[in-house]
Amino acid sequence: MTKLYLLLGGNLGDKKKIFSEARINLHNLVGEITAQSAVYETEPWGFESTDLFWNQVLEIVTKLSPEEVLLKTQQTELELGRIRKSNQYDSRIIDIDILFFGEEIVELPDLIVPHPRIQERRFALIPLNEIAPNLRHPVFQKTITQLLAECNDQLRVEKVK
Ligand code: AMP
Repeated sequence: MTKLYLLLGGNLGDKKKIFSEARINLHNLVGEITAQSAVYETEPWGFESTDLFWNQVLEIVTKLSPEEVLLKTQQTELELGRIRKSNQYDSRIIDIDILFFGEEIVELPDLIVPHPRIQERRFALIPLNEIAPNLRHPVFQKTITQLLAECNDQLRVEKVK
């Protein structure tokens, strides 16, 4: 069994319902959700949009391999996207990133873990810091709290009330 951390993100549609369905799917397909951060409202990173994002980090315990988890997260993205936007299969209303998979370092053509941009993004670090402040990044050998203190990202990240 491995403890992994996933980041949910989305800025379209009924975010409350979509996040709830994503958690149910992931629980059924990947494993038990053992911790979850609050949901955060965040400014888009890297582009302009008036639709603010929601982000949430989930801690899940799984028997699956990293590649199997990626298949399940992609299945979930597709299923939820299809429910909401039946004529736009490629427009995803939920994005699911694999942040950490235990202490494993994975470098495959379609999967890099730890996710290569965690340290640049407060929308990932702030929810991670809420549920796993002492988690150690296996590449940088720093805790989440240390990475957050060093992060230069200025975009707004606030808890959804
Ligand atoms: P995006 O459109 O930004 O969500 O990127 C999705 C693509 O990133 C997929 O094709 C994945 O194969 C790839 N990918 C690489 N590393 C990861 C990761 N740690 N978590 C999720 N997707 C990943």
